[in-house]
Amino acid sequence: MVPVVPFRHVIVIGGGIAGLLAARVVSGYSERVTVVERDYYPNAPNFRAGTPQARQVHTFLLRGQQIIEALFPGFREKILAAGACEHDFASETLYFYGERCPQLAPGLCGWNASRMLVEWQIRHELKAFPVTIMEGCAVKGLLYEDHAVRGVKYQERGSAAAPIRELSGDLVIDTTGSSSAVLHWLEEIGYASPHETVVNPHIGYATRFYQRPANIDAWSLIAIQATQQSRRAGALMEVEGGRWMVLVAGSGKDYPPNDPEEYLEFAHSLPEQELYTRIKEATPLSHIYGYRPIGNRFRHFDRIKMPRGFVAMGDAVCSFNPIYGQGMTIAILESQALERCLAHWHRKKNGEHDFQRRIAKVLAAPWLLSTVADSSPEDRKTIRDKIAHWYVSGYVIPAIPKDKMVQRTFIEVLHMLKSPNALLTLSIIFRMFRLHLSGVR
Ligand SMILES: Cc1cc2nc3c(=O)[nH]c(=O)nc-3n(C[C@H](O)[C@H](O)[C@H](O)COP(=O)(O)OP(=O)(O)OC[C@H]3O[C@@H](n4cnc5c(N)ncnc54)[C@H](O)[C@@H]3O)c2cc1C
Repeated sequence: MVPVVPFRHVIVIGGGIAGLLAARVVSGYSERVTVVERDYYPNAPNFRAGTPQARQVHTFLLRGQQIIEALFPGFREKILAAGACEHDFASETLYFYGERCPQLAPGLCGWNASRMLVEWQIRHELKAFPVTIMEGCAVKGLLYEDHAVRGVKYQERGSAAAPIRELSGDLVIDTTGSSSAVLHWLEEIGYASPHETVVNPHIGYATRFYQRPANIDAWSLIAIQATQQSRRAGALMEVEGGRWMVLVAGSGKDYPPNDPEEYLEFAHSLPEQELYTRIKEATPLSHIYGYRPIGNRFRHFDRIKMPRGFVAMGDAVCSFNPIYGQGMTIAILESQALERCLAHWHRKKNGEHDFQRRIAKVLAAPWLLSTVADSSPEDRKTIRDKIAHWYVSGYVIPAIPKDKMVQRTFIEVLHMLKSPNALLTLSIIFRMFRLHLSGVR
């Protein structure tokens, strides 16, 4: 018997990580699924213009790695075969939080790859699902009739004179990323824009690829976090092709330079020297790619009236200070939330609102974690924000390099393997206050 599916045609706008994952879950609930992507995809895991952030270091958190395995069984083996590097986020990572942290025992195993390879692999896996991708088509607006979105207007790339065409669907999902025109599209059909919460650390990234020397065996990931003393951060990550992806970043408008010598000087100025020591002798394989992310921005679609037949997810809804590596994992968690909603869509009075509310819940803890360090006193409006900042900055961060249990728990929370409440257990609180009383700040 053919199963009854709730939708005839779902259109996903944008074929980045969030769009491809949305298409994967929707494929079980719709007769047809079409992804409309503005770019033509490269035929290898290379850069494309539509995702300018893709040349920057991207960590795929362990929770995301677990779920992607459930969506695409065998994903880990396949991405490793494509060149991704096995990595233990405990024992093979050098963490720096105000000072160098001690090496942890093994046990947080995963892999590292460039975002370009991650997306390429997901796209490859998606071929096993009934999803059509329309490449080289830019969406220009929404089709709207009888209080519902009924599809999209799009234009093929290549000529400004190309005709605007229409594609009909009964659910449209916007995943066009942080530069999404969604507010404009909603305004065009008479809907108000959602309120935005912005916590902008004014961060700048600069990434360069290097040849990984053969004789290096320790630390396949170095993560130097900015602190209250130094607003500069850095990361070195081993990725496919025997390469290191090296990132230096500065917040508070202390943007890193693109000039090779100044880049090295910036790396030298970091409070931990392991990254600089490695790259000063290493062979660069690329230019230095600069990028200024928009920072933390949360559009509260959950608080407005959405038109029927339309939802948004991924960076179009919420983007984070990328230093915490959350965006791709959030996209996966949102696709899980989408799947849960789709199963009951037509039984709900308003499936669209239900979905936006669910993903707002998914976003709450990562948002708190991402903004707690970036926020200024004026940004901390609620008591919860104030307490979180007092506790994390004053007690948790200083304790990380001093206590392996705090460090491990914090890393597990960062990777979303544990809830932030894991930092509030009696034994963790006791350890931190004991360190605090002994003068660790
Ligand atoms: C500097 C930087 C570093 C980051 N580091 C990490 C990290 O370490 N770990 C992590 O998990 N995340 C990281 N992120 C976040 C991560 O890149 C995103 O969260 C993730 O890729 C999901 O994005 P998305 O799919 O919502 O949007 P995007 O990846 O931006 O994709 C949007 C897609 O929509 C297409 N598009 C745009 N407009 C249209 C249109 N009108 N019509 C059709 N198609 C359109 C684009 O071509 C693109 O393919 C980082 C982000 C930045 C900026």
